[in-house]
Amino acid sequence: SPRVVIIGAGIVGTNLADELSTRGWTNITVVEQGPLELAGGSTSHAPGLVFQTNPSKTMTEFASYTVDKLLSLTADGVSCFNQVGGLELATTEARLEDLKRKLGYATSWGIEGRIIDADECEKYYPLLNPGALADGRRVLGGLLVPSDGLASAARAVQLLISKTRAAGVTYQGSTAVTGIEQAGGKVTGVQTADGVIPADIVVSCAGFWGRELGKMVGLKVPLLPLAHQYVKTTPLDSLRGVNELPNGASKPILRYQDRDLYFREHGDRIGIGSYAHKPMPVDMNALPKVGAEDMSDHNMPSRLDFTLEDFAPSWEDCQDLLPALHGTRIEDGFNGIFSFTPDGGPLMGESPDLDGFFVAEAVWVTHSAGVAKAMAELLIESQSRTDLHGCELTRFEEVQTSDAYVSETSQQNFVEIYDVLHPLQPRESPRDLRVSPFNVRQKELGAFFLESAGWERPHWFEANRSLLSELPVEWQAPERDEWSAMFSSPISAAEAWKTRTAVGLYDMTPLKRLSVVGPGAEALLQRLSTGNIAKKPGAVTYCLLLADDGGIRSDVTVARLAEEEFQLGVNSNVDFDYLRVEARQQSLADSSQWVHVSDITGSTCCIGLWGPLAREVMGKVSTDDLTNDGLKYFRTKEISVGGIPVTAMRLSYVGELGWELYTTAEYGLKLWDLLFEAGREHGIIAAGRGAFNSMRLEKGYRLWGTDMTSQHQPYESGLGFSVAKDKTGFVGAEALVARKEQPAARALRCLTVDDGTSLVLGKEPVFVGGSAAGYVTSAAYGYTVRKPIAYAWLPASVSVGDPVEIEYFGRRVAATVTAEPLFDPGMERLRG
Ligand code: FAD
Repeated sequence: SPRVVIIGAGIVGTNLADELSTRGWTNITVVEQGPLELAGGSTSHAPGLVFQTNPSKTMTEFASYTVDKLLSLTADGVSCFNQVGGLELATTEARLEDLKRKLGYATSWGIEGRIIDADECEKYYPLLNPGALADGRRVLGGLLVPSDGLASAARAVQLLISKTRAAGVTYQGSTAVTGIEQAGGKVTGVQTADGVIPADIVVSCAGFWGRELGKMVGLKVPLLPLAHQYVKTTPLDSLRGVNELPNGASKPILRYQDRDLYFREHGDRIGIGSYAHKPMPVDMNALPKVGAEDMSDHNMPSRLDFTLEDFAPSWEDCQDLLPALHGTRIEDGFNGIFSFTPDGGPLMGESPDLDGFFVAEAVWVTHSAGVAKAMAELLIESQSRTDLHGCELTRFEEVQTSDAYVSETSQQNFVEIYDVLHPLQPRESPRDLRVSPFNVRQKELGAFFLESAGWERPHWFEANRSLLSELPVEWQAPERDEWSAMFSSPISAAEAWKTRTAVGLYDMTPLKRLSVVGPGAEALLQRLSTGNIAKKPGAVTYCLLLADDGGIRSDVTVARLAEEEFQLGVNSNVDFDYLRVEARQQSLADSSQWVHVSDITGSTCCIGLWGPLAREVMGKVSTDDLTNDGLKYFRTKEISVGGIPVTAMRLSYVGELGWELYTTAEYGLKLWDLLFEAGREHGIIAAGRGAFNSMRLEKGYRLWGTDMTSQHQPYESGLGFSVAKDKTGFVGAEALVARKEQPAARALRCLTVDDGTSLVLGKEPVFVGGSAAGYVTSAAYGYTVRKPIAYAWLPASVSVGDPVEIEYFGRRVAATVTAEPLFDPGMERLRG
């Protein structure tokens, strides 16, 4: 097996050593700068609370795997997980609603929990204040998850070291990695004061030191080390003799998010963590320098001096919630360090610029074993069985890896860690980081922007509000509940109406575009995609990029502009890095088949001009033949629009006649103005994502990352049409053949809500015959079909016409599995 060096013997590094060695890899060395008995990283002091439920399915899966693994890791009859349960409290109505939503996530991802009332909260946690809190609030209820609990992280590390040592893993403690050796674009080893340790694979599991390790290979690791306060009280009389072990606990771990606090028992003391203080970025040069002989629970590099003034206001909140704390004081406190990232997710994956250099950082104890398992799969099988798109090291755009961006957004995540956040809630800053050439016009039209990958994307335009008075009654959408009304506007109905009956102009600029050029371009794309892209220039192909197991790693639109030039519409930076790495390897293997992949998103722009009158608009500004014969559906050609060179692609994500019109950035504004002016007499409007999302669901167009991920295969996702008939030899092809023979157990289904008015947002559990059976992916109100739509993963046995229920805020909403697409199944509108 390959020689693997893991940097860091924290909870992530030791779990990874274990996951690799249990899978049969034998040549593993773990290098740790601290002493192995107590390395001094974040794990060495982590109180180990594990709340598994997360809006992300992946993060929840990581957590439940970690719970199972730590439960099975035992010595002297004591496991590394104390399953005391988890209780999250609500002291405001908004929080109680949030907990109901959270229970929905738990149910969707297979974790059991229930909402309990205030009396039951007190039964589970008798220390709670049964009366009014200082500001008149009181405990209203809670979310109880019996399988949550406490990880003994430092002990787990010791047990994992013994277990893996016995399996042949080598450990080098008190040995800092000072550099990474490389040759020919590949890692060859790690440097230490004792010499070089040769390696074929290096995995940096260095926790909040990750950035420093990244710098050794010129890799930006977008994490920020922040300090977070944790204290222990003096003993409580009421806990005396209750928990046997000094760190023992019997009550559930407790979260009081309305005051940014969490609690656990340590024998007869209470441990309290606070996110209520200001974010405290850590200067890595000012870490305590602790020699091996001095390392102790109270003296380690990841533990900064306690700043009582930052904790003092929280102490009152703690005593208010748990009155028994009045008789105690803070005995011990520290400002502990761990990592935050711009979107709160972990960082996992291989460097796109140095083969064999991997990262598994910004990982909580909660997710550690699950992350390690996924990393082991990635190393051994070159893919994980868990969907990693929210965790990929390369998911950020370049601008999002700058020190300033990482610092600001990570600090904001610290501040908001326990806030009730709407799924669409945008960050307030930095904004206007990436704007399309049309931005100035969009602002004039009163665009409401939300941010994605740094881009400003209009969701609707206030300028269209006046259309509401003309909106035919059948196009009027039902009123939304307060939660689903957030970041949404009735104006989207008018924008959908105009798009379906006249013509709308959509800014498609933020969708990532790549240029793939060279004599090897066709071979690269044929090898990596499910489509047959070996067609004549002018062809456009919608197809999938699969992993070896047939899972969908992305969906792409491939336009052949010339013999050796393709333009691709892709999903994210992960696709860009995947394609450029594959292109580099292909070019190195055979220079006659060289191919170059570049990101042209920022240097180009795109307008989607869609609607039954789109052709009339184009007729006024272009003399090119855009008839059905002149440019067929799924074809592209170069045209001129008022003198501007434009690549027109006959596609539509909203299911209407029209084109995606691409040009370079400097012409963008002029193109917008020309089209707007030409469209005036046809009732053209600028339209936003609100209308767009509704119309794409009416057409059944899937959104990768939401509707399907690497955990899903094409056929069960309803994407079998994008696998070219009789094509073989592409990545994932063999797995597809094997899968085609076994009937799929699940399917992505279109649901419509029976009452015609109740909206859901996505990720809600779906019940069949009263039992949780699946979950919603995308949802929207279908303005044209006049019903709320929800796509959902369900057992394949649930078929069209079957009744199901979607749980929204604890309420069951009746829905029906419906044949799709809901709108224009004959494609008459698209084909014009
Ligand atoms: P670490 O444990 O920091 O391990 C990284 C290791 O890499 C270190 O031992 C370090 O010495 C070593 N290393 C670094 N650089 C080098 C080098 N150049 N050469 C060799 N070795 C190197 N998480 C939870 O899930 N639940 C909680 O309740 C919880 N509470 C927390 C409370 C506090 C106060 C803090 C600060 C964090 C808490 N966390 C909690 C977070 C959790 O502790 C960390 O996310 C987790 O321990 C990180 O594990 P790791 O293995 O990635 O990092």
